[in-house]
Amino acid sequence: EGGVKLIKSGALVTCTHLPYAPFQSKDAAGKVVGFDVALIDLVAKKLSVTQEIVDTPFEGIKSGADLNSGKCDVAAAGMTITDERKQVLDFSDPYFDATQALNTLPGKEVKTLEELKGKRIGVQGGTTGDDYIKAQVKEKSLDLEVVAYKDLAALQQALATNQVAAAVGDLPVWNDYIKANPGKAVVTAGFDTGEQYGFAVKKGNAELLKAVNDAISASRTDGTYDKIYAEWIGE
Ligand code: GLN
Repeated sequence: EGGVKLIKSGALVTCTHLPYAPFQSKDAAGKVVGFDVALIDLVAKKLSVTQEIVDTPFEGIKSGADLNSGKCDVAAAGMTITDERKQVLDFSDPYFDATQALNTLPGKEVKTLEELKGKRIGVQGGTTGDDYIKAQVKEKSLDLEVVAYKDLAALQQALATNQVAAAVGDLPVWNDYIKANPGKAVVTAGFDTGEQYGFAVKKGNAELLKAVNDAISASRTDGTYDKIYAEWIGE
């Protein structure tokens, strides 16, 4: 692929933040798999290299620090394209649409933030769900304690063990959790934040960005995107 420079020879190094099924998580054998992994594999294939995945906190991914320091070539982390992040990262074309979901334990359904008055609500720290809830609390002067967890697993555990009355996060991820763990949670409401996920490269890495966009667009044309969607997201 003309002009694409990679930090390591023979590899396309991807930064992600585990677990984030169905976009990236470890399978029974400990291999990182998922929707994002499958799409970035197409980019690696196009570049005739192998994808290598680095698990690292989301903060370093979204701030551009990991791409800037050469920890990885590309970021693939179910990451929403935002204006703030666009200042420090170059995003690919959008590859997935998402909204925010409000989740509770079955039998403890609440459908609005107002109903959670005086209670604790969990979010994943540094994510768009975290930003959304904090903005709502401020805007509507809600009496709500927002508790931020370091990753999705910690947030889901907090909900399962009643440390929070509700949890907010990306809908596709909570749908996947509920599919895999029936009865552990229910989606009670959606907040239509109109989010779109993008892969990211270091600012100015136009050659790699083009390879990523070309791979996404080719996959949409030749049916590979739909196959990957059916495998990881379902109906
Ligand atoms: N889509 C959310 C965001 O970009 C969550 C991403 C994640 O936790 N991996 O903030």
